[in-house]
Amino acid sequence: MAPTPRPGILDIEPYVGGEASLPGFDRPARLASNENALGASARARQAYLAIADDLQRYPDGGAGALRAAIASVHRLDTGRIVCGAGSDELIALLVRSYAGPGDEVLYSRHGFLMYPIAATTAGATAVAAPETADLKADVDALLARVGGRTKLVFLANPNNPTGTYLPRTELERLRAGLPDGTLLVIDAAYAEYVDDAAYTDGADMVDAGAADGGAEVVMTRTFSKIHGLAALRLGWLYGPREVVDVINRVRGPFNVAKPALAAGEAAVLDREHVARSLDHNNRWRDWFRQQVGGAGLEVLPSAANFVLVRFADPAQAEAAVTHCRQHGVLTRQMAKYGLPDCLRVSIGADWEMRMAADAFAGFARQHGLDGAERTA
Ligand SMILES: *Cc1c(COP(=O)(O)O)cnc(C)c1O
Repeated sequence: MAPTPRPGILDIEPYVGGEASLPGFDRPARLASNENALGASARARQAYLAIADDLQRYPDGGAGALRAAIASVHRLDTGRIVCGAGSDELIALLVRSYAGPGDEVLYSRHGFLMYPIAATTAGATAVAAPETADLKADVDALLARVGGRTKLVFLANPNNPTGTYLPRTELERLRAGLPDGTLLVIDAAYAEYVDDAAYTDGADMVDAGAADGGAEVVMTRTFSKIHGLAALRLGWLYGPREVVDVINRVRGPFNVAKPALAAGEAAVLDREHVARSLDHNNRWRDWFRQQVGGAGLEVLPSAANFVLVRFADPAQAEAAVTHCRQHGVLTRQMAKYGLPDCLRVSIGADWEMRMAADAFAGFARQHGLDGAERTA
């Protein structure tokens, strides 16, 4: 008889990453995984290569230099930062540490898929709250689903795949409405892309804590997006001292590899590369929305490095994926996120965005969505 995993594990649908190759195309436009269009910082690459002479050495298990660099750039307390093998690892460790069988983990309906996966893996129950009609997290709906068994609430801000975010006032209303002893995890994977004084990545809320009741806050961040280091698997969290102490007990002693520590330190200090990446993203995100919107398709507003293109129905979205693939463009289908009529398109390099805009415009023409008169 085969060994039996814990209840719930076999109900998990494995996370499937975005497609990276396309038969018949040597260089497809890879717009399925929200990777940095400009690649990694040249300094991060140098730091990574330098580790080649030191591969016999264990990494610094405390990630001291990297945490100090993060703390100096973001003006945070070094002692309350924990690094992980991608923020995915930290999300999983937070759930495993604070929720188990009988507990609930709350997230919003079109939130990041790793939250329900991590919850189910830990034996907890994932509870989804509906979002507003414009695909934003709904604080009232989230609070309505909080009960005595709710241990963690996850909110990606901005969210993947919707590209929407809540302002500080709404985050604070959510935090204050949660019972004492719950943990609000603000996943700020795309924080660098937001340009709005009403926005917070959540670090100030971590510092403020739950002095007047409500939830304590943990912020998670990643090097996979604006820093262009997705290959190395590197993320970090900033939290209250008690939470940091817990995560440091349960994480692997050398959970972040040495090349990731070195490249991450160089990347976070390279503010020029961050600024260039942001500038590229904003320009091409606007351009793509104009082009594809002008071609007759609906492109939703986004504060991150991707956009959603929404179609009339799931069948049309499916046809658009196929059309894009035939034209060398890889996008992401959104059925698993409860958005089967949408495709997510990452903001890629110049040539990738031109290819994608051409493919979508061609699709719109073929399907008569461009408003042009047709003669038989
Ligand atoms: C991409 C992404 C992450 C980053 O995950 P890593 O494991 O750090 O690569 C985290 N949260 C959200 C919402 C994301 O889209």
